[in-house]
Amino acid sequence: MRDSVKLSSGRSYLAIPGPSVMPDQVLQAMHRASPNIYAGELVDMTNTLPGDLRRVARTEHHVAIYIANGHGAWEAALSNTLQAGDKVLVPASGRFAFGWSEMAEALGIEIEVLDFGMQAPFDMDRVAERLRADTTHQIKAVLGVHVDTSTSIRNDISALRDAMDAAGHPALLMADCIASLGCDRFEMDAWGVDVMVTGCQKGLMVPAGISFVFFNDKAAEARSGLARVSRYWDWVPRAHPEWFYQFFGGTAPTHHLYGLRAALDLIHAEGIEQVWARHEILAHAIWAACDAWSEGGALAMNVADPGLRSHAVTALRLPSPRATDLRSWLEENLGLTLGIGLGMADPNTPEWHGFFRLGHMGHVNGHMIMGLLGGIDAGLKALDLPHGRGALDAASNVLSGAHSD
Ligand SMILES: *Cc1c(COP(=O)(O)O)cnc(C)c1O
Repeated sequence: MRDSVKLSSGRSYLAIPGPSVMPDQVLQAMHRASPNIYAGELVDMTNTLPGDLRRVARTEHHVAIYIANGHGAWEAALSNTLQAGDKVLVPASGRFAFGWSEMAEALGIEIEVLDFGMQAPFDMDRVAERLRADTTHQIKAVLGVHVDTSTSIRNDISALRDAMDAAGHPALLMADCIASLGCDRFEMDAWGVDVMVTGCQKGLMVPAGISFVFFNDKAAEARSGLARVSRYWDWVPRAHPEWFYQFFGGTAPTHHLYGLRAALDLIHAEGIEQVWARHEILAHAIWAACDAWSEGGALAMNVADPGLRSHAVTALRLPSPRATDLRSWLEENLGLTLGIGLGMADPNTPEWHGFFRLGHMGHVNGHMIMGLLGGIDAGLKALDLPHGRGALDAASNVLSGAHSD
């Protein structure tokens, strides 16, 4: 009987690491007629956004908004600070470091990748050593992905700044916080980050379509030193518009701005410190369940050391093709969608089917995480995948505060 009945009708749950679950408040804010884009409410509302974005990024400096996904913000950050022939150093702990460096390469920038594999964070000693060897300061920027969404490694960006300072190197520190902003603690100014890029569809809970580049005065100076910057990507008018039109170099992304306003209201009503703490506890509940499943089973978290894991995404392994089987079963039978193992193996290879990821970023709470874990628990049973018992008990212990893990 159970086999012939699907249990997927009802509210579906997209538990992938971006796009994330959208709050009703964001959806409702976007459900409206087109506003006047020259004067009035939209213009006034948009003027409130930079200040509240800065509070999320923990910076006093500048922010430019682009009608683009995260890839656009990557290109914008590079286009405003570097030119063809410049060199960048890219420590890598996952696919997204390579993605950003490939974008730099396409702009004629010379890239040097320090690859730390798919299970380890940046080795700061090696970064410092490489920078020390660059006595003529050919390296103009260090590109660091804070949370690499492919592996769920969280890099210590503050320690990356320390490594650069220890080497006495003047390169710009540029951070990709597309997965981490609004989930994992990030302090742009206190950590000495010169440029930070992020998108809107992960911790910021808005549908994909706008992205952000934050930059300080040192980065602004690098921009001034460039012979030419693409008119569209130039951050100067966007961050310091003399009239509204310059914010976006064209028609404003009206509905995304309303959605963003609603999302920022939610974040600041909760408080950014509390938002980070919520993500931390929910992540610990997920890991407690994964630890239980792992015992005597084949499931394994990609990152062994909890101190190196992001609170926004968890990458997991199951022997191929069981990861894909599990994802398919959950989507078809329970209305629950898990993330693919992006970047962990090439698509069209058997290995591809041995990885999956859980997104737990943004608009997620305790009962959603218990639903996510309960679904996976049922899937492991339905597919007869060997796994340890007690995962839900372990997770609810974390949520209850009985064991703080
Ligand atoms: C999602 C993501 C990107 C890419 O963002 P898009 O909006 O898909 O272009 C880049 N870096 C990281 C760390 C991400 O998580």
